[in-house]
Amino acid sequence: MTRQSISAARVKELEPVFKCPLCESPMRVAECKSLICCRNHTFDFSKYGYLNLSARPVSSKYTKELFEARRKIITESSLYPSLHEAIASAIKDHRGGSADSYTMADLGCGEGSHLHRIMEECGSPGITGIGLDLSKEGIIMAAKRYEDPIWIVGDLAKLPLADQSVNVVLNILSPSNYKEFKRISVQDGLVIKVVPRPGYLKELREALYDREENKRYRNDETAALFRQHFVLADVIHLSYIKELNQVELGNMVRMTPLAWSGNKARIEEYINRDSAEITVDLDILIGKNK
Ligand SMILES: [Zn+2]
Repeated sequence: MTRQSISAARVKELEPVFKCPLCESPMRVAECKSLICCRNHTFDFSKYGYLNLSARPVSSKYTKELFEARRKIITESSLYPSLHEAIASAIKDHRGGSADSYTMADLGCGEGSHLHRIMEECGSPGITGIGLDLSKEGIIMAAKRYEDPIWIVGDLAKLPLADQSVNVVLNILSPSNYKEFKRISVQDGLVIKVVPRPGYLKELREALYDREENKRYRNDETAALFRQHFVLADVIHLSYIKELNQVELGNMVRMTPLAWSGNKARIEEYINRDSAEITVDLDILIGKNK
């Protein structure tokens, strides 16, 4: 079986989860190669198995190089395993005794490594993962590397997912569209958003910037907005310091949009160190859709 037909078979089992990004009508899988709505808008599965359900063409500054660096930091460095464990255990705690078979969508998934790792950490074979990002480059990389989740190029502002179709929404260090998150979530569904706290990557910010306002993240407005849409069931503060080696520091700089506007000489200086400590300082907001 080709990747195209494997994906088509998986999506066929989940047809009710999808809606047409152009006309919002229900969709079905046709001939093991396309997802078609009842008004005949047709989206073919790519050879890597992902679907492009974006309603508009997109150009992104996020390059293959950035996603490659991101994947290495997420899967090979010591920076994020604690985050994945904390999210998986929050899902177990807050879903309570619910069935083991559920749908988890990472919206703004980039190259998919967070979703892949969190699904591994959750350990339940009944989880259906859906990874969605507007960046085609990110989704191609995700689909090539991780066979299990369903990968979709799609728009956060116009999610190609049906009302009340998702049990767990993940949104990790990435922009949100709460109205859409709420629409696609089942009642009592979990919406888990990870936001930076003031110390997040502060050593990197301090090395690259002079201006005070660039050196610290603030997340109070994000948290307040989140609470307007969801019942806040818990906030997990995650704070720790890890040491990254030279290769990892290089990847760190390459994966972060922070560095795009930074001073080139200072970036060079930063990534030429043998190693450096870096702070992870995050809030995991656990919301319930009431
Ligand atoms: Zn349509």
